Amino acid sequence: MDFTGKHVVVTGAGKGIGRATAVMLARRGATVTALSRSASDLAALAAEIGCKTHAVDLADPEATRAAIRAALPADLLVNNAGTTELDSFLDLPEAHLDLLYAVNTRSPMIVAQEYARSIVAGGGKGAIVNVSSVSAFVGFRDHAAYCASKAGLDGLTRVMAVELGPKGIRVNAINPTVTLTPMAVKAWSDEAKAASMLSRIPVGRFAEPDDVAEVILFLLSDAAAMVHGVSLPVDGGYMVAP
Ligand code: NDP
Repeated sequence: MDFTGKHVVVTGAGKGIGRATAVMLARRGATVTALSRSASDLAALAAEIGCKTHAVDLADPEATRAAIRAALPADLLVNNAGTTELDSFLDLPEAHLDLLYAVNTRSPMIVAQEYARSIVAGGGKGAIVNVSSVSAFVGFRDHAAYCASKAGLDGLTRVMAVELGPKGIRVNAINPTVTLTPMAVKAWSDEAKAASMLSRIPVGRFAEPDDVAEVILFLLSDAAAMVHGVSLPVDGGYMVAP
């Protein structure tokens, strides 16, 4: 898959899946602009792949809008940044729901709005991949805010597909299972919980960041020209296992 000549914005590219995606895109010819929070991560990525970077807290809507405007125009968009907090439903603080909604649901909306307006103004075509989670489909204990934020992102994806498809922009979500990144350390370091999850994945392992990045690149590419509005599990069969 060749992305030569394509400018791709990747959010949350400082670590994990976003970083793997940015590196894979660059190796396949793309020019990448990375939007993420930690300046040190962005500097390391820029040193490795020569990308442009914008350090921004995507929980801040005004700063998010300014950062994506500064990054545009772009051909393709990967809305990958996400965060999590673990709380039982009965103890879920409103602030955690607000934060996860702000980063996982609202920031992809803002970034995609600005990107799509720019594509429409330029008369071009584009594609967006929103990085959701299997948490959009199922209820994981202690993940109420996360599950709600990702189900919201999938809903957003479907409406974006309906409204932006006629304007030449394909929009899809991917829904990974546990992927071995810093976030997974936070969410799945409990050994019993991780073993239970693993036992329900028919391929017998968790995902690596590159497993997910490969699917993101496929959905961005013209090879996926008729894939539109889906929420695609990248889960080793977790969703179909009894
Ligand atoms: P990581 O925590 O490893 O990396 C997330 C990246 O997003 C970091 O670079 C982080 O920057 C950035 N980010 C987080 N919050 C903000 C913010 N407020 N402003 C700007 N940047 C921010 O996560 P993963 O790579 O694991 O996750 C990537 C995506 O995949 C997320 O949307 C996640 O929900 C989803 N996902 C992950 C799974 C997993 O098991 N890992 C499974 C299913 C979905 P910084 O560190 O500087 O805050």
